Formats: sequence, C-alpha cells, structure tokens
Amino acid sequence: MKQIPDQAIYNYFDQRNLDVSIHDPGEDNEKRVIVANWNDVHNSMTEYLESYFEIDWEDESTTCCECYCHIHTSPGYYGDPGNFIWTGFGAVCKPCVIDNVESYLEEFTFWSDSTMYQYKAIPSWLVEHLEANNFVPFYSINSDCKDAYESGLHAGQTDTPEKVAKLVTSELGPVEMLFCIDSAGQFDVHFSAYIKKEI
Ligand SMILES: [Zn+2]
Repeated sequence: MKQIPDQAIYNYFDQRNLDVSIHDPGEDNEKRVIVANWNDVHNSMTEYLESYFEIDWEDESTTCCECYCHIHTSPGYYGDPGNFIWTGFGAVCKPCVIDNVESYLEEFTFWSDSTMYQYKAIPSWLVEHLEANNFVPFYSINSDCKDAYESGLHAGQTDTPEKVAKLVTSELGPVEMLFCIDSAGQFDVHFSAYIKKEI
C-alpha cells in the first residue's frame, strides 16, 4: 500500500475544517507524528493514518523551537520529566538542549539572594551535565551528604525553593545556583540544589 501524499492529508482535514499537523519524529518517536483532535476524525481515517504515522493529540503536542521535531508535552506517568524543557521561546527537545547545554543551564541559573526569580528547575536527565559546567551539589553545613529537599502534602515535606535559596545565601553568601527535580509523585516533589563554582 502506497502512502498518500501529505498534501492529500492536509486537503482531507481542510475540507472538514479540522486542524492537522505532521511533525518529524522526536526523541520518543520512530515514525513521523500526525497531530489532530482525533475525536473529530472518522475512525477509519484515524486507523488508516495510524499505519503510516504515530498519532498524537493537538493539546498534548508541540514542536521543538530549534529543530521542529515532535514533542509530546503531557507526562506519561506521575513525575515523568519529559524529554524536553520549556524555555521563554517554547519547548526544546532533549537532543537540542544537550547540544547547547551550557546556555540552557544558564536559563535555570539564578542568584541565591534574588527576590525577583521565578523558580524553575532542570529535569533529572540534565544532572549528568552539571559537573562539566561547574555546578556542584549544595552541602549544608548541617549535613555531610547532598541535601535532597521535599515539598508536598505529607508531613515534613515543607521545603520550598525560597527557603533553600535563603539557606544557601546564609551559608555561602550570594551565589549562582539552580534547582533540579529529582523525582515527582502525585503528591510531592523531591528536589536538590546545585551551586556554581567560581572559576
Ligand atoms: Zn530539537
């Protein structure tokens, strides 16, 4: 069976006043991805397209703002970090982030005494790139291991980025730092802090 041309697919959706887009495969895909609201598409058409494309939903998809590959934006499970990050320009896929890791880490770095900062955190898959970029885990003087913080609904999960940034400043003075989400569950988030070494 020969695949119909993309243009014929666009025409089919156009004639029915439906949105459709076809994305190049991303990190999680083997085939090109076709994106639409499948509730509005006839089953037989969806099944036909499924034999040539991976199918995704328009409200769970975007494209990388660097390479335009497909990005599935909704988590597959609680705590799924996703193979992408959100930036001021949109979503960026993991391979593009890793290609330019220094400048993307910069987006997450802030001064510990900054009050203007809107806290965000790197996904755990970026941790292995921290050391090469001069970040070291923050060790509180009250602890001899890497501190991991918890924020959530369970008793004692009262850490917040603001509190940790204040602790860092009180022990080290103002330093450049970032947060990492180590894991996230339905009701809590585990995170850690890294500080930038002065070189
Ligand atoms: Zn990309």
